Amino acid sequence: MFKKQQNRERKRTFKPERWSGILRKKKCKFCTDKGIGIDYLDHQLLRRFTTERGKILPSRFSGTCARHQRKLTKAIKRARNAGILPFLAE
Ligand SMILES: [Zn+2]
Repeated sequence: MFKKQQNRERKRTFKPERWSGILRKKKCKFCTDKGIGIDYLDHQLLRRFTTERGKILPSRFSGTCARHQRKLTKAIKRARNAGILPFLAE
């Protein structure tokens, strides 16, 4: 119970202005369009789910569902190790 309260507190203090350019519709892109597969070699797709600094976008901003977010995270991490995506962009 205490942990839940803490999480809510953190969400409230989170400043959304920084994410304004990234904030978009709240629907899972991969669920709505079944044709899109998550492939770690598809850097154009993966880049859309990272910030300009290379961080993985939280699902509450991208609207990706938990199942696809998990796949996406794996793909992005794999792409980083393969040198396709940067760990940290300058
Ligand atoms: Zn989905």
